[in-house]
Amino acid sequence: MSSKKNTVDLVIPIYNEEGVVQHTHKRICSVVDLLAHEIHFIYVDDGSSDGTADTLRAISANDPRVTVLQLSRNFGHQAALTAGLDASTAEIVVSLDGDGQHPPEVIPQMIDFILQGFDIVQGQRAEASDPSIFKNVTSKIFYSLLNIVSGTTVLPGAADFRAMSRQAVDGLKSMPEYHRFLRGMVSWMGYKAVILPYQETSRIAGKSKYSLGKMIRLASDAIFSFSLTPLYIGLSTGLLFLILACIQIVYVSNLWLTGQFDRIVPGWSSLMAIILIASGTIMILLGFIGVYIGYIFQEIKRRPVYLIRGENKDEQ
Ligand code: UDP
Ligand code: MG
Repeated sequence: MSSKKNTVDLVIPIYNEEGVVQHTHKRICSVVDLLAHEIHFIYVDDGSSDGTADTLRAISANDPRVTVLQLSRNFGHQAALTAGLDASTAEIVVSLDGDGQHPPEVIPQMIDFILQGFDIVQGQRAEASDPSIFKNVTSKIFYSLLNIVSGTTVLPGAADFRAMSRQAVDGLKSMPEYHRFLRGMVSWMGYKAVILPYQETSRIAGKSKYSLGKMIRLASDAIFSFSLTPLYIGLSTGLLFLILACIQIVYVSNLWLTGQFDRIVPGWSSLMAIILIASGTIMILLGFIGVYIGYIFQEIKRRPVYLIRGENKDEQ
């Protein structure tokens, strides 16, 4: 086996893409065959129920550079990508979709960036060719919401089309969390990253495997695993209620002190004060529990406390 320095693994998740995968493989080959690097394909069959498995078997029979990982059932795009990244061993790992929407023509440029010393080359969709306005609008809303509530900034239009150095892949592998939103996890890691815009093309065949349900699940994985804000809502609402209680007490005391007894309905002030103070206190206590749950949540994710980019290397 030659030195790993020059090796590139291509990780490609595939789910029910029998009409596409042969074409995808040919197209990728026409690009990477011109490269001097040792290329390896890792196709991850995410529990396809059509003829994809047979097609992939035929591809790997004809091309010794191809490995096919077959998942036991459909686990979803992010899980399939994770399986492929876990199986990769090369110095440079590129992940791309198998439906032709991530142009392989960009791969040489991605590899060049990694060789220049970048750890992550993040593909960014320049302009969606997808005629679905629904997908574009929901994607915009999703990224704005995510970036408001989460401490990790995720680039709008970022795709799971990226190249990573071995160091970055190992960093990702040290994050064993179950609910995975790889775009966020990659951004959380830091490292030296560069954005590479690409023009997304239409699917070669078939239709999107991201059903509305899968999109919602990905969005909720992203928001809930990257933000503790929902847990802390109790604290701010509770505080708001206590402020309202103070305003109410000042208001009623003022009526009392100025002798405007006729404006005070008997029983109203004490009842209001008790309701506001009690609910404010309960919400604040719920907020405290939220804070503890947030701590537990962070602990059980078992993310590393830090990642090291280099030792005795003077890179800026
Ligand atoms: N995919 C997968 N498992 C799934 C859904 C999708 O492996 O459960 C693959 C799919 O075959 C494709 C890539 O992930 O190669 C991206 O999916 P898709 O093109 O359907 O998503 P979209 O481009 O519509 O966001
Ligand atoms: Mg696609």
